[in-house]
This record gives sequence, structure tokens and C-alpha cells, in this order.
Amino acid sequence: MKLKKIYNSKKPVMSFEIFPPKTKTPGEKESKMQVLLNELSLLSKYNPAFISVTYGAGGSTRENTFDLVLRVKNKLNIQPMPHFTCVGSSRDEILQYIKKFESNEIHNILALRGDPPKGQENFIKPSDGFEYANELVEFIKTNTTLGIGVAGYPECHPGCCSIEVDIQNLKRKVDSGAEAVITQLFYDNQCYFNFVEKARLQGINVPIIPGILPITSYNQLDKIVALSGCALPIEFKDNLEKNKDNPEMIQAIGLDFAVAQCGELLENGVPGIHFYTLNRAFAVKNVLDKLEINKNEYTGV
Ligand code: FAD
Repeated sequence: MKLKKIYNSKKPVMSFEIFPPKTKTPGEKESKMQVLLNELSLLSKYNPAFISVTYGAGGSTRENTFDLVLRVKNKLNIQPMPHFTCVGSSRDEILQYIKKFESNEIHNILALRGDPPKGQENFIKPSDGFEYANELVEFIKTNTTLGIGVAGYPECHPGCCSIEVDIQNLKRKVDSGAEAVITQLFYDNQCYFNFVEKARLQGINVPIIPGILPITSYNQLDKIVALSGCALPIEFKDNLEKNKDNPEMIQAIGLDFAVAQCGELLENGVPGIHFYTLNRAFAVKNVLDKLEINKNEYTGV
């Protein structure tokens, strides 16, 4: 089912993001894939509309992304949504790659520009490739029937001068054919609500799906904040700081926060929630259980 139809559902739609496990040998790959599929089978009872599979920085996981996408579809019987970036690919290579998804009956793709490779400050357009995600969206729209999702940034993309300009650029992606926006993770719901309001004022009318990452350990905090550029509400941050040497408390605080955050989003009528799972079922499962919504109340499929 295409994103447009998925989010036509009157009920909020749950979806999950995973990444291809890092492996060195074929044996290690099989065992890590199996572990991941076992984790995902714990989440399948929540009836996700789709599971999105990331595409490694610099195109580093191209084949593994494809492989994992097929395993999600064939072994779990859940629709996968591959991510794809413009990094390091020419139009011909992109065409070949996205056609493979289409011929394997994958219905949707998340079209991204990607980050500049490590050590490079600015994104350099690949020869005969694309500079911005809106160009990739247009290319996919012209050459396939895939439903297209794109990324949005409630706290502004780190490379952009202002949220207003960033939203204008988001509109280019939507005008080029994107059917839904999935946001960067955030912890301050007000940022998301403001972002949606501004996007609507600029004529962006597609669903904007909040991306949520429940905090499970103190050590992941710095990395999350550095990678996403998101702000942590002061009280939440202080609470985590105070308990940084107590892993169980950190888990409990992170869980309570995510439950309250998702609860408020759902009460405000969000079209769905996209959970960043970090390949573990535990946190998302706990949040969904604590939200105490029956799966029939939030499925899009
Ligand atoms: P764009 O929409 O192209 O935006 C990039 C920057 O350029 C922004 O500052 C924007 O304001 C500006 N801009 C956009 N269009 C124009 C234009 N036409 N003219 C001038 N300026 C413009 N990265 C990965 O490598 N793999 C993944 O799997 C992955 N998954 C992600 C999933 C989600 C939900 C999110 C939010 C991000 C993901 N990323 C992933 C990270 C993403 O690749 C980076 O944030 C990247 O820097 C921007 O990608 P984009 O598609 O948002 O780019």
C-alpha cells in the first residue's frame, strides 16, 4: 500500500525504523540478521504499516539495505520502506537500484539527499547525480510508481539558515511528489506542533509523521543530540543527568518520557508515529504497551 493510502487511515499509523546490522563475515551477517528479525517479530504484534530500512552513509549499505528490505517483506510479511540517498550515485545507478525495489513489489521509498561523507564539510553533487532531495523525488516520481516519503526537521536542518527557508525547501520535495514527511527525532513536542503549523501555512498538506526515539541509556544522549541537533527539555535533561549512574532509572525515565510524549502527540491527532528502534524491540514495545492502545485502534493496514 502506498504512503498516501496508508495515511488516509482514520486511525494513527505505527511504523518502525531499523538499520542493516554491521557485519564482517557472511556467518556473522546471518546470525545478526536473525537476531534482528527476532526483535522485529516481537514488534509485529503492534501491526506496523511499514518498517523503514536505512541506507548507510555514503551508500555503504546499498546491498545490505536491499537484502534486509526483502527479508522484512518475505520473512515477516510486513511492508518495508527502503531509505535511499543521492550520495555517490549517478542517475543510471539510481534508476537501476530503485527499479529493483519496484520489481520486488516494494511500494514506498524514503528519498533523501544524505550527509556529506566524513571529513567533507559540504555536500558535493555526484557527477550526473543530484544535489538536493527534491531532485531525487522528481526523478523517482518520473521513473517509477513508488510512493515517496521525505525527511523533515522540526528544529531545522543543521545546514540551513532558518526554519522558514528549510520549510520552503521541504515544500519543493512535496511539490515534486512526496506523499508524506517523516521527521527527525525530537523531544519537545512544541517544536513539532510549530513546525506542522508553519508547514501548513506554506501550503504543505501531506501528513507529517513525528519520529520518536525513546531514550534507553545515558551514554547514547550525546550522540543523539550531536547527530540530530535536537534540544532536550530542561527538566528531562536534568532528570537524566541526576541519574546518569543508574541505568535502570535512566531506562524508566526515558520510557515515562516517551509514553507521555507519544500520548500528547496522539491526543493532538498526529497521523501516526514512526519509532526509531535502533534494532531493539524492548523500548518501543514498552512504550506501546504503556500507551495501552489496542492495536486495532492505531493501525493503518
Ligand atoms: P534536502 O531535503 O536535500 O535538504 C538538505 C539541505 O539543503 C537542507 O538544509 C535544505 O534546507 C537545503 N535544500 C534542500 N533543497 C534545496 C534546494 N533545492 N535549494 C537550496 N537548498 C536546498 N541519512 C542517510 O545517510 N541514510 C538514511 O537512511 C537516512 N535516513 C533518514 C531518515 C529520516 C527520517 C531523517 C530525518 C534523516 C535521515 N537521514 C539519513 C539523514 C539525511 O540524509 C540528512 O539529514 C541530510 O543532511 C539531508 O537529507 P534531506 O533528504 O533532508 O536533504
